[in-house]
Amino acid sequence: MDDRKFRTAMGKFATGVTVITTEIAGEVHGMTANAFMSVSLDPKLVVISIGEKAQMLDKIKKSKKFAVNILSAEQQELSMIFAGQIKEQREISFERLDGLPVLSGAIAQVACEVVNVHIEGDHTLFIGKVIEIELNEKEPLMFFNGRYRSLSSEEVLASK
Ligand code: FAD
Repeated sequence: MDDRKFRTAMGKFATGVTVITTEIAGEVHGMTANAFMSVSLDPKLVVISIGEKAQMLDKIKKSKKFAVNILSAEQQELSMIFAGQIKEQREISFERLDGLPVLSGAIAQVACEVVNVHIEGDHTLFIGKVIEIELNEKEPLMFFNGRYRSLSSEEVLASK
C-alpha cells in the first residue's frame, strides 16, 4: 500500500478543525490539527497527535501544556494561517484561558496539562488532562477529502 492511498483513505474521515496553541518563554505558537479526540470522561482526557517535523512538538514537550481551539465555520483563514497554507506573517491576538493563549471566536477552547506522551511512528501523542473549557455556540469548520467544508443549516435542522 502506498502513502497516497493511506492518506486518501484517512481523508474520508470527516473531522472538525482545531488550532493547538501553547506558549514557551512568552512566545505563543499555534498549529492547525485535526488529529484530536476525546479519550476519557473520568478523568477528563483528550489526545492530540503531532508530527515529528512540527515545531509544535518541542514546544509542547517544554511547556507541558496546550489548548485546543475548535474552529468555527468563519475561521478557515485562521486554520490556513496556522497550517502554513497562508505564508505571509499575520498579527493574531490571543485571549487567555487558565493562563494559556486561546483564539477568540473558537466554538470550544479546551485548556490541558500534558499527563502522558506516546511516540508512535512519526507522530507523538500527547494525552491532555482538561483543566478548563470555554464554549461558544457557532457552526463548526469541517475537513473532508483534503478540503474545508461547513455544515449547511439545512443539514443541522434535518438531524434534529
Ligand atoms: P510552523 O509551520 O512554523 O507554523 C505554522 C504556521 O502558524 C506558520 O505559518 C506560522 O507563521 C503560524 N504561526 C504560529 N504561531 C503564530 C503566532 N503566534 N502568530 C501568528 N502566526 C503564527 N499536523 C500534525 O502534526 N497533526 C495534525 O493533527 C494535523 N492536522 C492538520 C489538519 C489540517 C486540516 C491541516 C490543513 C493541517 C494539519 N496538520 C497537522 C499540518 C500542520 O498544521 C502543519 O504541518 C503546520 O505547518 C505545522 O506547524 P509547525 O508547528 O511546524 O509550525
